[in-house]
Amino acid sequence: MFVLLRHLQRVRREAALPPRRGARSLAIRHVDAGSCNACEHELTATAAPQYDLQRFGLDIVASPRHADVLLVTGPVTTRMEGALLAAYEAMPEPRRVAALGDCALGCGVLGAAAELAGPLDRLLPVDIRIPGCPPTPQEIADAILDAIPASQSPGSP
Ligand code: SF4
Repeated sequence: MFVLLRHLQRVRREAALPPRRGARSLAIRHVDAGSCNACEHELTATAAPQYDLQRFGLDIVASPRHADVLLVTGPVTTRMEGALLAAYEAMPEPRRVAALGDCALGCGVLGAAAELAGPLDRLLPVDIRIPGCPPTPQEIADAILDAIPASQSPGSP
């Protein structure tokens, strides 16, 4: 156990994320709108011990009613359009939308035009863009952390 903890400590040190970015918090609701699941794989890694996004106050929540950010992966298939819009409507204001991966951003390789309602910015206002196929956990973490307004930091006016 001790060896494992030492190893995790070293891995975290080697990851380029800075040790502190100030105390902030953000609740994220993820919706898979037809991805190939590679984007989800990388997103899951951001919560693993190497990146451990929760230490920055970021959390993936189960309900859009608790979320500040709607994080969308995939090109938005016609079958997922209704569920995605329902999740957005359930979110409290202020709410933001993040497009994770090239599919959500509109240049993905999945699906034919007839099967797609996306790209995401055709349906919702996209505030955070995270390009890549898939983006790395560090790119995901950096983009989300950069999007947290300074006003959410305790101690700011
Ligand atoms: S952007 Fe790439 S990795 Fe992500 S869902 Fe699309 S094809 Fe898969």
